[in-house]
Amino acid sequence: MVLILGGTAEARALAARLHADGLAVTSSLAGRVANPRLPAGTVRIGGFGGPEALGRWLAAHQIAAVIDATHPFAQRISASAAQAAPAAGVPLLRLERPGWSERPGDRWHWVDDLEQAAGAIGSLGERVLLTTGRQGLAAFATVGHAWFLVRCVDPSDPPLPPHHELLLDRGPYTLDGELELIDAHGVDLIVTKDSGGAHTKAKLDAARRRGLAVIVVRRPPRPAVPSVPTVDEAVDWARAHAG
Ligand code: NAP
Repeated sequence: MVLILGGTAEARALAARLHADGLAVTSSLAGRVANPRLPAGTVRIGGFGGPEALGRWLAAHQIAAVIDATHPFAQRISASAAQAAPAAGVPLLRLERPGWSERPGDRWHWVDDLEQAAGAIGSLGERVLLTTGRQGLAAFATVGHAWFLVRCVDPSDPPLPPHHELLLDRGPYTLDGELELIDAHGVDLIVTKDSGGAHTKAKLDAARRRGLAVIVVRRPPRPAVPSVPTVDEAVDWARAHAG
């Protein structure tokens, strides 16, 4: 049995490929999203209870290999896997999509975290499309001089920025759709994590078209685990370790 730590489009694609290949696969989701897109194969939902509990879970379910395909900003579950899998003698691979890179015409401002992103808004814009997700919005709660269009999959708990509108939506997004959104709301600044991937990239193309500044939050440091950037490579690895 292969365990995929999921919550990303790549994790779903990987589960579909391994399931179609006849490999036994369980995908694990955190349970943050009310109606998640469910991957093929078996799905379990909810935290494990920390690295030790994850280690026990791996042994109890006779897991032959773990693929951590979680989001680049999901730090705790990756740290948990990096501790639990080697301790349980289970091979671990990280599947991580490459980050985005700037192209000519982009006006990107890199910051280290959401607090820095909030601090950088003042000089860059007043009508902000905020796409950093539902968690961590408290960092923007004291930014009173700007209006925010907060786009996330599910409603967020307070505190939120004093002037905002919530837009519940999930990708993939298109260039035309993002241009329309920017124009309709008079957006002059976008804030994003460096999530990478194609599903949410259209906002960056739209920002370039409209000459908008973008504040990009850098990825956090990751545990030292063998890593591949594509689903194809993760499929090969899984076949070799659990086929
Ligand atoms: P996190 O801070 O790394 O995780 C917090 C806790 O949630 C973990 O300690 C773990 O609980 C549990 N958890 C997280 N992912 C899990 C999984 N796939 N299966 C089982 N338990 C999981 O993660 P997060 O940033 O809250 O993200 C939660 C999930 O949303 C991740 O699976 C990630 O792939 C997805 N996601 C995150 C982002 C983002 O920007 N952070 C964006 C898109 C999708 P225990 O310690 O109890 O095991």
